[in-house]
Amino acid sequence: MTLALSTLRRYGAILVTAGILAALTACAQNPATPAPPATPASASATSPTPASPTAATPSTRPTIVIVATGGTIAGAGASALNSATYQAAKVPVDKLIAGVPELTTVANIRGEQAFQIASESFTDDKLVELGKRVAALARDPGVDGIVITHGTDTLEETAFFLNLVIRSDKPIVVVGSMRPGSAMSADGMLNLYNAVVLAAAPSARGKGVLIAMNDDILSGRDSAKRANIKTSAFSSPWGALGMVVEGRTYWFRTLAKRHTAWSEFNIDEITALPNVQILYGAGNMNPELYQTAVRTGAKAIIHAGTGNGSVANYLVDTVRSVRAGGVQVVRSSRIGEGFVLRNAEQPDDKYDWVVAHDLNPQKAKILAAVALTRPGMTSAELQRIFWEY
Ligand code: ASP
Repeated sequence: MTLALSTLRRYGAILVTAGILAALTACAQNPATPAPPATPASASATSPTPASPTAATPSTRPTIVIVATGGTIAGAGASALNSATYQAAKVPVDKLIAGVPELTTVANIRGEQAFQIASESFTDDKLVELGKRVAALARDPGVDGIVITHGTDTLEETAFFLNLVIRSDKPIVVVGSMRPGSAMSADGMLNLYNAVVLAAAPSARGKGVLIAMNDDILSGRDSAKRANIKTSAFSSPWGALGMVVEGRTYWFRTLAKRHTAWSEFNIDEITALPNVQILYGAGNMNPELYQTAVRTGAKAIIHAGTGNGSVANYLVDTVRSVRAGGVQVVRSSRIGEGFVLRNAEQPDDKYDWVVAHDLNPQKAKILAAVALTRPGMTSAELQRIFWEY
């Protein structure tokens, strides 16, 4: 697609002046998750009549930092009809903020441009770099909440990674959009506004890293891009945590798994992530691919199996030899709903394999990589981590 420069320039001007377009157990089958620490008092502030977002005065408004990484929320197309054909990662963070003047009624806003990339190009190095920046902001007493603008393709990985490694109760919200700001009915403007409302809300403290998309408040742990093209792209098999409507937060459930301040992982102790590869289950698979993954340095393989994380009979010996060679094997499922049962489709105890519980393969990859930053990780310990997070 050719992006007309004049369109971009005109687009930028529209954003700033009119604000019309959106800028955009080890091995127990029924494991017990340890009790969470005491809930921060503020996290239980789920008043049935939430405070108006515009009630605060400028001096009492919270300070929210928007860390921009690119994606469609910073994308621009050649015409208003281009809702799916456009270039991601074009609009800088100051223009994104200027495009939603209502943000300043909610919080004092500061923008930072971390990256300007489409999220399919995220690497482990970028994840670690972003994590360290978010942790530094979370430690800053002058910052009340953090919003990360992100491409939607791998937003679910980044949200889960931050959910695992940022030791803070402050609201951290990841947000994207399915349409660029230049398109008719662009969704980025409202998504960004909702993300800032959420990051500024005392009720969002201690709830783990959140995703704000399409009016929903979603958990960064188990929500994923589960539809393409549609603005209702993100959902969790276990449902949304709540909604943001007209600048107010409404909560209906909380995350039962360990996260953020309750996590045993800490970005301050992580400098790089180990190589973890996903192999996708289908008919007629090539066992050689497992050996290639190991030869090229994989420390764990996520088997994105059919159904209940099944492993084809002609693959079992290869996958067992992978584990015998010291590489962790995690059985996940390509289904995206439900969860993988330990010792059901395969004798995991006998083969020393781990099951991914309800995490989809890409989330399982993130958790395995974070867990394997610990030296001497056993399969029993890795399984405990998969039950608890
Ligand atoms: N490919 C884009 C990205 O992930 C898609 C999007 O943001 O919606 O950056």
